[in-house]
Amino acid sequence: MELLKRRIQQDGTVKGNDVLKVDSFLNHQMDVALFQEIGAEFQRRFSDCGVNKILTIEASGIGIACVAAQSFHCPVVFAKKSQSKNIAGEVYATRVESFTHGRVYDVIVSKKFLGPEDRVLIIDDFLANGAALEGLIDLVDQAGAQLAGAGIVIEKAFQPGGDRIRARGIRVEALARVKAMSEEGGVEFVD
Ligand code: 5GP
Repeated sequence: MELLKRRIQQDGTVKGNDVLKVDSFLNHQMDVALFQEIGAEFQRRFSDCGVNKILTIEASGIGIACVAAQSFHCPVVFAKKSQSKNIAGEVYATRVESFTHGRVYDVIVSKKFLGPEDRVLIIDDFLANGAALEGLIDLVDQAGAQLAGAGIVIEKAFQPGGDRIRARGIRVEALARVKAMSEEGGVEFVD
């Protein structure tokens, strides 16, 4: 998606060799007009999939998922990072290791909001090592729902998550795929 790639080049900053900061337009301050373009692009790519629910993870996926949901005309469910130990029974639960915070979270979705009648599109801001996306896929599997695929805004294609998840036969559509990046050289895209 050219508009997104130009915006990353213009306003993104690289920290170390593997963190891309896009908090001026994507995951702190949010450019909602850009989100609408992103949502419309996800809708074009998944238009033939009969999506009736979008699943994301708090916090930074929620804004993008909500705007995208206006193109899909369906509800959004976000997986919550849970502190509670006493959750068995009412929720699907999985564990996710956070790339940015270096810790492990329990992530939950209420059984009321995901089930076998659902055809789910997962949406998230970044795909890096794949832990967040694999956790969300696990929740979809536990619910007996069908997975249409995953719509990712920025995939860091030099990290292993995307390849590993596509190798499972899961459709992953990333709108900007970063081939390499550095503080000196900036960001280079796959295509
Ligand atoms: P993964 O689980 O695929 O390693 O990482 C995905 C999650 O980590 C995303 O939901 C995102 O919040 C965060 N993340 C991973 N890499 C980056 C990055 O380079 N920049 C930012 N801002 N967040 C990232």
